[in-house]
Amino acid sequence: MAQERTSLPDVVERLIDPKVASLRVVTDSSAAAGEPVRVTVQACNGAGATATDGAGAAALVAMGPSGHAKVGEATVEDGLGHAQVAIAEPGVYRIEALVGDDLRAVSDPLEITSDAPAQSLYWGDVHSHIRERRAQALISDADLLMGPPTVEAALAWARDVATIHFATVSDHDLKLTEAEWADTIEVHRRLNEPGRFVTFPGYEWGCSAGFAGNFGHRHVIYRRNRVRGVDPVPLFRCDRPETETAQGLFDALKRTVPIEDVISVPHHTARGGGNTWMNWDYCDPELERLCEVFSIWGSSEKLGEPYPIDYLASGGYFGTGEARGHHLQDGLARGYRFGFTGGSESHDGRPSRPLVHGPYVISETDFLAPPGITGVWATSLTRDGIFDALRARRCYATTGARMIVRFGLGDTPMGGDVAASELSGPAEFSAQVIGAAPIAACELVKNNREIDRASSEGPELTARFSATLRDREAAQPGDFFYLRVTQADGEMAWASPIFIT
Ligand SMILES: [Zn+2]
Ligand SMILES: [Zn+2]
Repeated sequence: MAQERTSLPDVVERLIDPKVASLRVVTDSSAAAGEPVRVTVQACNGAGATATDGAGAAALVAMGPSGHAKVGEATVEDGLGHAQVAIAEPGVYRIEALVGDDLRAVSDPLEITSDAPAQSLYWGDVHSHIRERRAQALISDADLLMGPPTVEAALAWARDVATIHFATVSDHDLKLTEAEWADTIEVHRRLNEPGRFVTFPGYEWGCSAGFAGNFGHRHVIYRRNRVRGVDPVPLFRCDRPETETAQGLFDALKRTVPIEDVISVPHHTARGGGNTWMNWDYCDPELERLCEVFSIWGSSEKLGEPYPIDYLASGGYFGTGEARGHHLQDGLARGYRFGFTGGSESHDGRPSRPLVHGPYVISETDFLAPPGITGVWATSLTRDGIFDALRARRCYATTGARMIVRFGLGDTPMGGDVAASELSGPAEFSAQVIGAAPIAACELVKNNREIDRASSEGPELTARFSATLRDREAAQPGDFFYLRVTQADGEMAWASPIFIT
């Protein structure tokens, strides 16, 4: 379907409109009973930007197993308010925010456990850009259109407005000077705040023009600013002879950085157009333990999915179709063992919650899909806690909804390995989804084929859903199993595979 396009000045007008059109409320997804839960209330204008007219006290009501109870208040000023609430009774809740008589919003689910859980659920986006500003020449008020103009402002947006727990501003290698790279690392260090907001320095390697060949795009993230004597962590560029090929990048990374301190994440793997799709001939199993399945470009999971990464179908500006043979399923079929992430790939300096589509912006609706997000089951909200969980592939992608997804085989959670010799007979997987809407489908995918499914028509507010999904044959080494979840409202999630070794 072709999308409506509006002129650039119109977009700016809509972005700076101070009038409140709706409310948005975001909370943490997991907490122990009595422990603080962070709540953000945003007054939004018609374009989804903060409506600065928004002001007043937002009543916060916990809607849970034993009814509704007011648990706090957020003071909304200039359209934004932050608060902490505590809930004493374990259960699944959603937080309702109310301002005045007619502004109301309901959060995604919040799970309160009786004891501090061994792992908590944190949300993040390690794929976003600020240095894509060609549209600036076209309009007078460029920063309003293009969003926060600095890495610091972009990370602050991620923390305070998007309200995610971890982030990377991963600008393109060829768009960064050495001084800007040094500054990027330093700003990520300064804004890293254990327990509140975690940052990883990173950048994107790869270019669409094609230098030495078609290798695709990947974002590279580092555990911290300096790793074992490498200070600062290096930026390898795709226009330098030694790192112009994917193999060159892998060699350079492995030569300079301990393998446990760096992750390279291929993304929009099936996006059509020269050198933007992933070439599965060049994938490093040690470095590329993750792959981004979903972003504003759409889904790269497989052909024939609800959010195809297909600009021909959308009438969009690239005029390219979906790249066959370059989906995540094609990479999995070749034996690569990566976990799934969702990224925003925002180009307007608004990680996780872009409002316009960066340098090619035509209108704020010129996205193929909503921004993706990554959920991580981590032992702590620290660089080590989140990075270790990402390396362990204990993560999943969603289309933006913060549904709570658990997936396991026995004691092994999503992303893990299980030896075939440990399994006697058919394998039984456990899936638990706490959604924001009824679960239309919860599918177990084995070696890229759906082999079992379950669904729930549960009421929206208590969409807790558990299922045992079965493989009826004995699992073999090389098999992999992942979970695909589709809510009745179209939101999706993909839980990282469990690999049989
Ligand atoms: Zn890219
Ligand atoms: Zn990118």
